[in-house]
Amino acid sequence: MAASSDITQPRPLAEIASYHAHVYYDPASTRSVAERLRERIAERFVVRLGRWHDVKVGPHDQAMYQVAFARDVFATLVPWLMLNHDGLSILIHPNTANARRDHLADAVWIGTPLALHGDVLPEQGDVEMELAPNTTPHLAP
Ligand code: ZN
Repeated sequence: MAASSDITQPRPLAEIASYHAHVYYDPASTRSVAERLRERIAERFVVRLGRWHDVKVGPHDQAMYQVAFARDVFATLVPWLMLNHDGLSILIHPNTANARRDHLADAVWIGTPLALHGDVLPEQGDVEMELAPNTTPHLAP
């Protein structure tokens, strides 16, 4: 049963520089839900909240905003989003040198998975620098 993949080494966690959560919403019907979730995230987690994209951008097929966060935030933020996404679809992906694989093959979804246009993403590039957080949380998750 030996497959050729057996001789390759597993990828080390050190490949992951940081993570993104992409919070999707419908500008016509669920923007207020996304606003409330954004405020709740800001009150509880040290993250970098990105701009609102009310129109589709990059590989994303629906309006969304990005939440960038450090590796050590994953263990609390992601379970919290599982419990509190309020019906919104959220894509969680690692940031490595392969953005296409990060989004298409190695991501996890909370809520209903949506289409992604991975062909616009590079398969080899610079790993995204860790972005400075812009939240000042004061509530326990
Ligand atoms: Zn991303």
